[in-house]
Amino acid sequence: MQELQRRREQARRAADEQGWAALLVTPGPDLRHLTGYDAMPLERLTCLVLPADGTPTLVVPRLERPAAEACAPGVALVDHPDGADPYRLLAGLVPAAGRIGVVDAMPAAHLLPLQDRLPGVRWERAAPVLGRLRAVKSPAEVDALAEAGAAIDEVHRQMHRWLRPGRTEAEVAADIATAIRDAGHARADFVIVAGGPNAASPHHSSGPRELQVGDPVVVDIGGTMPSGYCSDCTRTYVLGPAAPPDFADYYAVLQAAQRASVAAVAPGVPAEAVDAAAREPITAAGYGEAFLHRTGHGIGLDTHEEPYIVAGNAEILREGMAFSVEPGIYLAGRHGARIEDIVVCTGDGVRRLNTTDTGLVHL
Ligand code: ZN
Ligand code: ZN
Ligand code: ZN
Repeated sequence: MQELQRRREQARRAADEQGWAALLVTPGPDLRHLTGYDAMPLERLTCLVLPADGTPTLVVPRLERPAAEACAPGVALVDHPDGADPYRLLAGLVPAAGRIGVVDAMPAAHLLPLQDRLPGVRWERAAPVLGRLRAVKSPAEVDALAEAGAAIDEVHRQMHRWLRPGRTEAEVAADIATAIRDAGHARADFVIVAGGPNAASPHHSSGPRELQVGDPVVVDIGGTMPSGYCSDCTRTYVLGPAAPPDFADYYAVLQAAQRASVAAVAPGVPAEAVDAAAREPITAAGYGEAFLHRTGHGIGLDTHEEPYIVAGNAEILREGMAFSVEPGIYLAGRHGARIEDIVVCTGDGVRRLNTTDTGLVHL
């Protein structure tokens, strides 16, 4: 409750600095961050109005009022019955002119009627401002991410139970999804099981291909904990004792690169330097073209959020920032590998929230 109030005050101050008359927040991670309320995005309008000065007010459909009261302590509630015009109601809560920040999660179905009601307002994306606030985690948030990390590690530790030759990726993925929930997540968000040539596709959708002896298999999995915080961890496995001839060589390059990248994390370091620490050894080994995505993304109430660990992002890492370090090498038509840990930038370095070994695991 105190933490939620602190976050709202932080957001209000940031909105004020932008010169926004108000900040409007519809259901999604931003609303959960600011109120604790994990509201369903509906055709009915739910929206937090955070004025530059004044009381934060949550506009909710009348039938959602009990849920909102229980989940968003310390926020004034205004409800609208079915058949009433919630946009007129909301328009009455903000100035009719000036600039207003809106979250990316606000659907056009809500924003466009609101724009009709408030033709004198200039609408601006709040994402850069809120993203910056959410990027720095409090100690309680780091604890929640560590809990998520431990839960997903538990699933990777049991991979021998499901990953076997003759089973399809989809069968294995279904078992893993159950295990993600059994390990304490409220839901499984994604399960990538990519075997053999499919391992060369970073976001492969687990399909009917049967896993074979000798296959490298990339397993990238994550879920959302009851706290709302997300897990995301990738390990690469090999079925049987023998990996394809060149695979073990580039896996060693990848493992060293991932380690170097994690070790590069510290307060004061630009995000792009962490990307470079992974990319340089991979490029030097001749696999630069095969590392075809950024090194990482922030994680919190969203699986992908700021800060992005990518070339060109000179943003300075700060204590409390949490993000993935996940370089990969992908050889089209053949195989691939990725290693992903979630890490937190600490006061003097880095803490890994995924702690299973990153070496190649033969199953
Ligand atoms: Zn990804
Ligand atoms: Zn990731
Ligand atoms: Zn991942």
